[in-house]
Amino acid sequence: AYWPASGHLEVEKLSARYSEDGPKVLRDVSFEVVAGERVGIVGRTGSGKSTLTLALLRCILTEGNVRFDGLLTEKINLDALRSSITIIPQVPELLSGTLRQNLDPFSEHDDAVLNDALRSAGLFNLQTEDNQSRITLDTQVAGGGANLSVGQRQILALARAIVRRSKLLILDEATSAIDYETDSIIQTSLRTELGKDVTLLTVAHRLQTIMDSDKIMVLEAGQIVEFGKPREL
Ligand code: ATP
Ligand code: MG
Repeated sequence: AYWPASGHLEVEKLSARYSEDGPKVLRDVSFEVVAGERVGIVGRTGSGKSTLTLALLRCILTEGNVRFDGLLTEKINLDALRSSITIIPQVPELLSGTLRQNLDPFSEHDDAVLNDALRSAGLFNLQTEDNQSRITLDTQVAGGGANLSVGQRQILALARAIVRRSKLLILDEATSAIDYETDSIIQTSLRTELGKDVTLLTVAHRLQTIMDSDKIMVLEAGQIVEFGKPREL
């Protein structure tokens, strides 16, 4: 059978810490997101939003259960898990190499597929008029992504998620570093092609970003204090 089938997420008493003897910065968090649902995650700085995104992918020390399409993520091989779930962090790290290599590190796809993904993600909308800064698959990315803006890096990471056909997309919005235009390109991309058939968790800093979410989660000191439809909060 093909897994993941839909993008259903069940989280049960998930706790996380950054080191063996460090404090739990996420404490007994439980929630469920049905396939295709859009959840906006908000909370003050330091409340654990980014930690939650990392804990879902087991990038840090966790306790508790996460089931993705019915399977416990600890039983899923990490490569499979990380291709079916994409996290777009606040400041994505890229590999040094071409854009093509960043999008498709194992050369599994045609250029047409990669260009479509860049277009869907909105990268070409960032092009300036002069041809000097035209972005193509051959554009060189400096180590870490230093020659791209944070917004461009997030859009590129979004394109990678499209190429991978991830069923769960977790976007940790950049904060001050991102301009309004880039933010709206990302939001538009998520509302169109990209957003179809995927479950979407968005850590948001602008209220506007999450107004049309199906549910909103409010985190406070590592715990969920509200989780429900926007109108009910
Ligand atoms: P922001 O809105 O500023 O991005 P956030 O809600 O994403 O904040 P987190 O980054 O999840 O907050 O941080 C939650 C807690 O975990 C904070 O107390 C923070 O100090 C701690 N923390 C975050 N990253 C690390 C780390 N790499 N090592 C140790 N502690 C960390
Ligand atoms: Mg954060």
